[in-house]
This record gives sequence, C-alpha cells and structure tokens, in this order.
Amino acid sequence: MVSCIVKNNQTETIAYRGRFAPSPTGLLHFGSLVTAVSSYLEAKVHDGEWLVRIEDLDASREVPGASSKILYMLENLGMVWDGEVIYQSQRKRYYQDALNSIRRLGLVYSCTCSRKEIAASCIIGEIGPIYPGTCRGNLASKKHTALRVRTDNKPINFEDVLRGSIAQRLESDTGDFVLRRADGTFAYQLAVVVDDAEQNITHVVRGTDLLESTPRQIYLQQLLGYAIPSYMHLPIVTNSSGEKLSKQTRADPIDLSKAPSLLVAALRYLGQAPPDELANCNNSSIWQWAIENWKRDKIL
Ligand code: GLU
Ligand code: ZN
Repeated sequence: MVSCIVKNNQTETIAYRGRFAPSPTGLLHFGSLVTAVSSYLEAKVHDGEWLVRIEDLDASREVPGASSKILYMLENLGMVWDGEVIYQSQRKRYYQDALNSIRRLGLVYSCTCSRKEIAASCIIGEIGPIYPGTCRGNLASKKHTALRVRTDNKPINFEDVLRGSIAQRLESDTGDFVLRRADGTFAYQLAVVVDDAEQNITHVVRGTDLLESTPRQIYLQQLLGYAIPSYMHLPIVTNSSGEKLSKQTRADPIDLSKAPSLLVAALRYLGQAPPDELANCNNSSIWQWAIENWKRDKIL
C-alpha cells in the first residue's frame, strides 16, 4: 500500500507509516511495551515513519496524567516518534463527518435497546454478542441513542502478516455495530478507521485482541472509500492466570530504571535472540542491535 503526502512542495511517496495508539487507561505495562517495540521496529526496518496517537475518546476510562506519562516513558525508552502526537479527544469533528458520510449511505440507525435487552435477546457468537438488528427500522435521528451501522453478510477477508488469512461475515459474526454511543462518545471502531486514514497509516501493528475487530474496520474503510492498511497482529502478553495484561488485570507499569532489561525481555518475548550482555548496554545500543537483527518471522 502506498500513499502520498506533500512535503517541501514535492510529492513524496510514503511506503511505510506505522503507529502506536495507546489508550491512556493506565501507564505502559509489559504488554503495551511489546506492542510499542514491535510497531517501532517494523517501521524502522522498513525505513518508515512511526507515529504516536493517544486514544483518549472515553474520558470515563482515562487515568489523569497517563497520556503525558506514556509519552515520557516512550521517550525515556529511546522511542522517537515522527510528527505531532494527536489526541482523539480533539478530533470529534472528523468522526462526526465520517458518521455523516455513512449516514448518507442510509446505513446508520438509532438503537434504543438497553444492555439488558440486548443480553436477553442476542446470541453469543465466537466474537461475543451478535446484535440481532432489533432497531433496524429506526431512523438515525433519535436523540441520545446509540447509532449503529447496518452490516451485511458479504465476506470480509484480509491477509494478516502473522496470522494469515482471516475472514468474517459481519451480519452473522458480530451484527450491526455501534458507531456512536448513547452518551455521544464515538466508538473505537469508527475513530481508529478515521485516524488511520487521515494520518495515512500504511501498516498497523497491534495486539491479537484486536484481530477480530479488523473486519469491522475494513468494512468502514470500504464504506468511507479509504485505503486498507496492512495488518499485523501480535501475540498477547498474559499474566500467570492467562489473562491479558491490562489495567483491568492490574498489570504493573514498567519500571524505567530497568529499561534495558525490559527492552531485552520484550525482544525475547517477540522471539528475537538478543545476547545476554545486551541488558547491560544503554537503550541506544539495544535499539541498534534490535534494528539490525529484527526477524519478524520469529514472532510466535
Ligand atoms: N487504543 C487501543 C489499545 O490501547 C489500540 C488500538 C489500535 O492499535 O488499533 O488497545
Ligand atoms: Zn436496538
């Protein structure tokens, strides 16, 4: 995938632009470090750019100060981003424009179902509850209701760099999904698609927990006429009970005083074979080794 941007009055072809898109629901933990390291290295070995975007759409889940601390941590780890950091909380007009475009296609409707009603009426599929389309007859103009996009059953296929060929039929696998919640918050699925397109992201590297969201994102990209980036979904870091490291599972923030050994541990987690002595080196020597020796096909 190649997209163009204008720089210094010349059209320059960007062959690789990646991103790391943390939600400030907590500080970086080992799981988010692994995602950051992989997306950074993939960008570097492709001579590409690496952008950072703060996904702070849901104010109720935000930990005060986490955004700036995450950026401080990345800097401290020697991960230098390109361009300005963008904040989703500042970009609602873009999401509203995209929502309006999908509405013009006649595919958006108001959903007045409560969580309880949905839980009582829906089937739980492999990906979770499948919304049965109860409110499909509604107009999209009811105030203070969730807005859903109508899906269909055309297969959506993509080739994940690590996981191979992935296919879903949205109507039967997830059902119509929410684009804007009843409280007015734009859904992750919409915001991520708008921002990846608007920032000309060509390559998305992120955790496998988002693999199942990708067909919904590709569906929105198709509706909005956006380019479809390449996707690479990484293994998820779990704790000793097998749960994904996250704020909910009380993952500890990484300790920057141990940065070299954490970077080396992240590389090992990703199947790379850094020599033991590397943990005694400074961050920039670790990055140099990592860029020279990065082998994506070693990731499990
Ligand atoms: N903000 C999401 C997270 O922290 C990542 C979204 C993405 O990479 O698409 O889990
Ligand atoms: Zn409904």
